[in-house]
Amino acid sequence: MKKFFKEFKEFALKGNVMDMAVGVIIGAAFGSIVTALTTDFINPLINSIGGASFGGKIHLPWSGTGENAQYLLWGDFLTQVVNFIIMAFCIFVMVKAINKLTSLGKKEEVKDPTEKECPYCFSKISIKATRCPHCTSELK
Ligand SMILES: [Zn+2]
Repeated sequence: MKKFFKEFKEFALKGNVMDMAVGVIIGAAFGSIVTALTTDFINPLINSIGGASFGGKIHLPWSGTGENAQYLLWGDFLTQVVNFIIMAFCIFVMVKAINKLTSLGKKEEVKDPTEKECPYCFSKISIKATRCPHCTSELK
């Protein structure tokens, strides 16, 4: 039993498991923000412009009336679709921004050169070289 807990501790404290947990929590929080954005801001705007209610539903005529009545809740479904589109767009923008930051870091690394070009034979040689290993010219 002690070994079991030790293994569990090792599993839970692995870096990627913690990262994943943080990702799931942030993702859930982000999801509720997007839902709030849709229900509090976007739905009223769309409803005021087109008059098309996001709470729209279609009664299925064969399901009867009263308590047995069944509805296609297309308004609710549409809300979820809008949520998804907003969320996908936000994630796309975030990933793009992160990629840009990552590539900026890479460019800075390239700025620090380790090679230079020999002015006589144009071979790539070490930046510290005082004599070219290819044409043996002396370099300043
Ligand atoms: Zn050379």
